[in-house]
Amino acid sequence: DPQLNPIYTFDTFIEGDCNRVARRAGKTVAEKPGANSFNPLVIYGGVGLGKTHLAQGIGNEVKRLHPNKVVLYVSSEKFINQFQDHSRNNAINDFIHFYQLIDVLIIDDVQFFARAEKSQDAFFAIFNHLHQSGKQLVLTSDKAPKDLDGMQERLLSRFRWGLSADLQMADYETRIEILEMKMRNDGLDMPREVVKYVAYNITTNVRELEGALISLLAQSSLNKREIDLELAKKVLRNFVKTSNKEITIEAIQKMVCEYFDVAYDKLLQKTRKREIVQARQITMYLAKSFTKNSLKTIGEHFGGRDHTTVIHSCQTVKDLMDTDTLFRENVMELTQKVQLASM
Ligand code: ADP
Ligand code: MG
Repeated sequence: DPQLNPIYTFDTFIEGDCNRVARRAGKTVAEKPGANSFNPLVIYGGVGLGKTHLAQGIGNEVKRLHPNKVVLYVSSEKFINQFQDHSRNNAINDFIHFYQLIDVLIIDDVQFFARAEKSQDAFFAIFNHLHQSGKQLVLTSDKAPKDLDGMQERLLSRFRWGLSADLQMADYETRIEILEMKMRNDGLDMPREVVKYVAYNITTNVRELEGALISLLAQSSLNKREIDLELAKKVLRNFVKTSNKEITIEAIQKMVCEYFDVAYDKLLQKTRKREIVQARQITMYLAKSFTKNSLKTIGEHFGGRDHTTVIHSCQTVKDLMDTDTLFRENVMELTQKVQLASM
């Protein structure tokens, strides 16, 4: 199932006071989908706090424990897009019917339903059918249900049938555990004082905590230098600071080629291979974001493409980042590398 990323499991989702209720409810849901009092389970919290990880973890756990159950993980954006496609083709019934066959339906980021009235109607029909048939619903949202402006009251009242559990930023001890787990999984070692320093200073969200770790590793290998407290201080100071030195298009091209293991000249040629097209689009996007070069100049650096190609590439990257987790992670990692190089 391409929708579920196997790296997101309960094992890798560290428990702390910040997420205990949500994590345990998620576990119960995965063990007894549909047959528990958390239906729907609504997980809410700010960006980078683990909503997608936990939601996917539930999906993966259901598949592990109940291989015969039909699990579907979908972002609300994808749901809305699919709905609109079916609506254009007069096939709304097919759409609803498809969703009614699912045993565990996981919809990520339901806050985007707020702008999509017709999709809410379809979701309402699907919700009712699944709930009545004892099927499980898991929803995530960046806001508490009561703050979801633009969501139909009849849907909000159904959200209250189950459990709404929030995710908070991990406390210091949990942040240390998360860092230690990431290091263990990647076979890395870092002095204890550095782990503490990073955990102490990154208090925004877990994604940034991971970002700090990645920056630290990148900086250490870039400079062929051991990770120590001094390096950590430098990296974290720059982590929040915006860049001052301008990086070149060529340097970005080189980084992306290295990252995706793509030959430099392939980036400039007319190859239509998907990996290469994507690498090229990401490079254009980064060049646009991190250099002051005009669209025309950027295009010229890619075998003489014109500025509309650059605009299209930037848009494609933004769209894919919204819908494709792995893609987004790649772009974010590259963004960090470029930021580091611009320091
Ligand atoms: P959200 O969907 O809320 O924006 P994500 O689920 O994408 O956040 O989480 C951001 C990153 O933080 C992911 O890489 C995720 O694995 C990690 N993460 C969040 N919470 C935890 C946790 N409790 N333990 C381990 N990793 C976590
Ligand atoms: Mg998410």
